[in-house]
Amino acid sequence: MIKILANDGIHPDGKTLLEEANYQVDTEKVAQEDLMEVLPSYDAIIVRSATKVRKELIDACPNLKVIARAGVGLDNIDVDYARDKGIAVYNTPAASSQSVAELVFTHMFSLARFVHRSNRELVADDANFKALKKAYSEGTQLRGKTLGIIGFGRIGQEVARIGIGMGMNVLASDPMVDEADIDIMLYATKSIRLTVTVETVDFEEVLAQSDFITFHVPSVGRALIGKDEIAKMKDGSFIINTARGGIADEDALLEALKSGKLGGAALDVFVNEPTPNPELLQHPSVSVTPHIGASTVEAQANIGRELADKILEHFGALD
Ligand code: NAD
Repeated sequence: MIKILANDGIHPDGKTLLEEANYQVDTEKVAQEDLMEVLPSYDAIIVRSATKVRKELIDACPNLKVIARAGVGLDNIDVDYARDKGIAVYNTPAASSQSVAELVFTHMFSLARFVHRSNRELVADDANFKALKKAYSEGTQLRGKTLGIIGFGRIGQEVARIGIGMGMNVLASDPMVDEADIDIMLYATKSIRLTVTVETVDFEEVLAQSDFITFHVPSVGRALIGKDEIAKMKDGSFIINTARGGIADEDALLEALKSGKLGGAALDVFVNEPTPNPELLQHPSVSVTPHIGASTVEAQANIGRELADKILEHFGALD
């Protein structure tokens, strides 16, 4: 029997698929320090971002055949080392793109209409309804605004799809993508489709033209937007980072928010997770979420099913 340790959990849909194939799926969390002892008796491990699968652990598990990441980023796994040892490493890159894209717009709508601030201030015992109504009466519509997308892969293109559908001007930048066909479908009818080809432009053009700039790049080990780049942005524009902590330099963001250069920022990811810089969290022009881009019921179900399929295919291929 194939034994799988889903150490950071797995959606019930995925677990069921594996159990229907008579695989044993254990979901009881094993502490990181105990994995060296426990994992050698398993054929596969499924992790999210919490469990680390480093060289030492891989060396301790000669029977391990699959490392599966329920999500996208593989930073917590020594991928090359595992593959060199013949261990397959799988992730689910496409399963959560729609959910991340929707979170981007959650933040954009919130920032544009001060919803994040109203939610904090209107609930106070001494809240002055009329004063808040006046303070937040100059929000902006998103239609007609320019949305800059840095990184035009899976999530970037989903963001473009929603943005175009809402009547935003989309400007995308990606050194590896010249253009992409964005398929706009009216879900109510499914019969009406419109394909818009978006040609990418220079990063500098996105910086100069956009009212909102959102990042959808992999971890590149450095900030893509800092003080110099923010200086080239429109006054009062917005930055959204749901990619990786630090892609937008946090110190530069704070400075630009304090000076009013930026109208606001939205962050789902932070340099210091799980204890982000409190000054950034508490700034009134910042809308925050605790790294929940992929955390919807639908995305987690997609992830669970996609991983189960990959694992079943893997062991099926070994028969
Ligand atoms: P993807 O690989 O499909 O697309 C990334 C794109 O970025 C690629 O087309 C690549 O060419 C481009 N790119 C690389 N360097 C660039 C640069 N310097 N400038 C412009 N473009 C550049 O990846 P994806 O599935 O769209 O995911 C994007 C990011 O979203 C990843 O960092 C991932 O970790 C993150 N993510 C976050 C959450 C969350 O919970 N917040 C969930 C899923 C994914």
